[in-house]
Amino acid sequence: GLSMALTACGGDDSGDSGNDSGSSSGGDKAGKVGVILPDTESSVRWESADRPALEAAFKEAGVDYDIQNAEGDAEKMTQIADTMIGNGVTVLAIVNLDSESGAAIEEKAKSQGVATIDYDRLTLGGSAEYYVSFDNTKVGELQGQGLADCLGDEDANIVYLNGSPTDNNATLFAEGAHSVLDPMTNYTVVGEQAVPDWDNEQAATIFQQLYTAADGKVDGVLAANDGLGGAAISILEGNGQAGKVPVTGQDATVEGLQNVLAGTQCMTVYKSATQEAGALAEVAIALANGDEAETTGTTTDSSDNSEVPSILLTPQAITKDNVGDVIDDGGQKAEDVCVDK
Ligand code: BGC
Repeated sequence: GLSMALTACGGDDSGDSGNDSGSSSGGDKAGKVGVILPDTESSVRWESADRPALEAAFKEAGVDYDIQNAEGDAEKMTQIADTMIGNGVTVLAIVNLDSESGAAIEEKAKSQGVATIDYDRLTLGGSAEYYVSFDNTKVGELQGQGLADCLGDEDANIVYLNGSPTDNNATLFAEGAHSVLDPMTNYTVVGEQAVPDWDNEQAATIFQQLYTAADGKVDGVLAANDGLGGAAISILEGNGQAGKVPVTGQDATVEGLQNVLAGTQCMTVYKSATQEAGALAEVAIALANGDEAETTGTTTDSSDNSEVPSILLTPQAITKDNVGDVIDDGGQKAEDVCVDK
């Protein structure tokens, strides 16, 4: 099985990230930070990686926090925000479900004197003081290059399964991937579609349609995250093509890493939740104290060309050869990844 064949699964388990639970005790001087995560379905990352990393970061900083999940419902996110503001958060960070509802939440917070931060997804037309994320164009570039590395120099037909049309990141991922793959003239795009809400079930249906429309002549799949990749792999499996057609991904989820090790997925992209949550905690504390946060630059909001002060971290491509990097960094535990499927 996997664990015998692969070095990532052969070494010792030194990757325990050591998250614990409990509530923060300190914090009056830095106020209280509210964080609203988007859902539990578009990626397992929000509950399995971001939540524990955020808890650890806020605890370490001695800051009071409240982390909630909107479960894919923009109205619910609005209600949670109202409740958090009513409960006296001084800083509110959101992962928006769409820019319109996100901007409305930020506007309202601002009118009540609550500073907002865009966590992971930029809210177009929003009023967040800061944007904390990874370099998402770079994520797309890594996916494009990863797919090209798996496909090689021969002619190949590519299908794109893009993320949610309401997620600015999905736009950046697709742009980054196209910027790498489009100049490679041996590749032909034979299908491309965005998956509403990053919904994995819809992704399978959409991929099946694109696959059929291309007469099964699909040689590579640019899937925007591990969930969408897994959906494509399930359809390829049904057609006896899993492992023969490279598929990309993102988030270095347990499922994604297992698929990479099994050879049904060409690569994934690792974005350390510890880094991203840590950056959010730093910015939130600066805001709560009325200080300026350290940034890596600004990001242009394409809706109005405004510049949003940003902390953009560096994503890492993961293939079969360096799955161990994710485990060594505490991004996943060897005992979770290294089990036979
Ligand atoms: C995040 C990805 C995630 C996707 C679905 C994007 O905005 O950057 O990490 O896979 O949303 O939740």
